[in-house]
Amino acid sequence: MAMATMAMRRAVALGARHIPAAAAASSRVVPLRHMSTDAGAAMEKIRAAGLLRTQGLIAGKWVDAYDGKTIEVQNPATGEVLANVPCMGSRETSDAIASAHSTFYSWSKLTASERSKALRKWYDLIISHKEEPALLMTLEQGKPMKEALGEVNYGASFIEYFAEEAKRIYGDIIPPTLSDRRLLVLKQPVGVVGAITPWNFPLAMITRKVGPALACGCSVVVKPSEFTPLTALAAADLALQAGIPAGALNVVMGNAPEIGDALLQSTQVRKITFTGSTAVGKKLMAGSANTVKKVSLELGGNAPCIVFDDADIDVAVKGSLAAKFRNSGQTCVCANRILVQEGIYEKFATAFIKAVQSLKVGNGLEESTSQGPLINEAAVQKVEKFINDATSKGANVMLGGKRHSLGMSFYEPTVVGNVSNDMLLFREEVFGPVAPLIPFKTEEEAVHMANDTNAGLAAYIFTKSIPRSWRVSESLEYGLVGVNEGIISTEVAPFGGVKQSGLGREGSKYGIDEYLELKYICMGNLG
Ligand code: NAP
Repeated sequence: MAMATMAMRRAVALGARHIPAAAAASSRVVPLRHMSTDAGAAMEKIRAAGLLRTQGLIAGKWVDAYDGKTIEVQNPATGEVLANVPCMGSRETSDAIASAHSTFYSWSKLTASERSKALRKWYDLIISHKEEPALLMTLEQGKPMKEALGEVNYGASFIEYFAEEAKRIYGDIIPPTLSDRRLLVLKQPVGVVGAITPWNFPLAMITRKVGPALACGCSVVVKPSEFTPLTALAAADLALQAGIPAGALNVVMGNAPEIGDALLQSTQVRKITFTGSTAVGKKLMAGSANTVKKVSLELGGNAPCIVFDDADIDVAVKGSLAAKFRNSGQTCVCANRILVQEGIYEKFATAFIKAVQSLKVGNGLEESTSQGPLINEAAVQKVEKFINDATSKGANVMLGGKRHSLGMSFYEPTVVGNVSNDMLLFREEVFGPVAPLIPFKTEEEAVHMANDTNAGLAAYIFTKSIPRSWRVSESLEYGLVGVNEGIISTEVAPFGGVKQSGLGREGSKYGIDEYLELKYICMGNLG
């Protein structure tokens, strides 16, 4: 990234107090409200546990950027600077790749059982320290503590699962076509993996990649988001404590395009695994062509949530609320469009709005909070743009629809009615706490509307009809479908999208294949 662009990205990340005057004037920024909770005490707790790491990790050593540059990590709820971390670039990334490459030979030669034990220990350490990574997530990302603790369990579950799966990477013996031959298939680790992850799941998006990679013997260079590096660094510290060898797991952060380019250009990096926006995913896919790397992409969604007339209304409200408002609407599987059949539209809208009114917006450190801030000012401006576009085309705001009085990047949980397919709210991922309600008449129309997008990650349906649940699930062009359920992710099931939502699957027995190559061995002249 040109440094100017990077500076702009930081500027929007800096929150209301720091955005340039011209931008502030046009964006109706509510002044900062002083928060009552004590981020300082939380940081002290993390420091006392030895998990406040603020340097990158290369070859088992904690290091600064070679030119000494740093970036600030901020609390989106308050604007406070939590820490400075190194702003690394191509030189540090090249060293991290070299370290991963040399460690690959020893790590991949260990037995599956030895790798499994180290991973299991890492899992145990994450679970026994669960409060510190959760606090870090709440502080740097904004998600409520309850959700953050949930993410620690979810994130750790990938390490536990792949610690077990390490021992089940079986090959094949194929019946030969000539009697003096034996045909074998070995599964071997791809080699050095470059893993680039987003801010919205600061732990789980890392463990979902690093768990299977390490399990099968790959070594990894991780680049967490510049907004949430502290959780990643704490997890890496616990990995070292668990006995994952120096160099098997490296962490660099800072200038994203420079780090990305270094990973893409290296012939030693054999695989890129990315979770993030579709735009960046496409760049990484194109950039991988030159060295013909294996690529896995978990990209943006535009999830439909279809509520049929025959749905159990309580189940539908509970499920759509969870699918929409988790992490304040900032997940790739968040319900982005709630399609409601005409016969149930009014009843559903009334019950849904009532449920949304019960959500408590606030600092994630406060126990009662269920909705934290958005990640930054740019995210709020995006939501505002989508709302303005919808209302200018005939949609009606039924609840919320504006910045929250807490200021910063807090936004009111919002319900918008009569959304149609010409609106941004229908066409793109809003990535915020806005639930668009879209009426439909028939099942065919709902399926057509649901599939009318380039995205294909998650979809949800609510119906009491078993035939309909099969029929619609099979017609939806999505990688994941929730039937009468709004929270469907688990380490034991394959997670991933179709169309422009990505390539490959993470988690489950399928997720490990992304880090393996097949080798065919033909043994001849045996007769
Ligand atoms: P993003 O802007 O694409 O960033 C994701 C990661 O890519 C960050 O680490 C970012 O670094 C890095 N990055 C940015 N530009 C890069 C470049 N040119 N080269 C290499 N790396 C680059 O996405 P985000 O805003 O963090 O995350 C939100 C998006 O992720 C949403 O679209 C969401 O749907 C998607 N997502 C998908 C899944 C899934 O499993 N399908 C899960 C979670 C999120 P910096 O942050 O340091 O700039």
